[in-house]
Amino acid sequence: MSLVKAPELDIIRAVARIDAAVSGNEFAEESDRQILLDKLKEWVSKISEPFKSDLCQCPDCGANPGENHKPGCDVERCPHCGNQAILCLYSENDVTIASCDGKIVPDEELLKWSGRWFGYEDCEEYNFWCKWNNGWVPCEKGEIGSQLDMNRLLKECDWDRDAKRFVHRKE
Ligand SMILES: [Zn+2]
Ligand SMILES: [Zn+2]
Repeated sequence: MSLVKAPELDIIRAVARIDAAVSGNEFAEESDRQILLDKLKEWVSKISEPFKSDLCQCPDCGANPGENHKPGCDVERCPHCGNQAILCLYSENDVTIASCDGKIVPDEELLKWSGRWFGYEDCEEYNFWCKWNNGWVPCEKGEIGSQLDMNRLLKECDWDRDAKRFVHRKE
């Protein structure tokens, strides 16, 4: 039989114990572990790509995809620098002001909630994926436990205020 990497085995043991405890059965047999591993892999791939295909409401302010965030939302981003909007923008008499460049931001320039996490589209386009293996390491799309690598996006790319997206950093 093929060897299972240590962290996975730990998880399988944990799952087996939980499974046995819940069902009242004895501790799972060795042969059951492959079944549990398969189940676990299926589960991990399901939860490791959040927002991949399903659009959701903004997890902070509840904006629907395509809508502006509500003032003070933690998730909204500044259209000028890409940082969290709460660090850059403030509203006065319903007018939003960008403190990072001091200019008033017209409503239509505010970054709307797309239904997915900020930067995910750019990560996907640049094929930035990572997985946990005693730290986050680069990996291929579709590997077990793969996630979009936002850290790499922020490290290798800059926010382009005109294009309103991340672009590869110029040398
Ligand atoms: Zn929001
Ligand atoms: Zn800003």
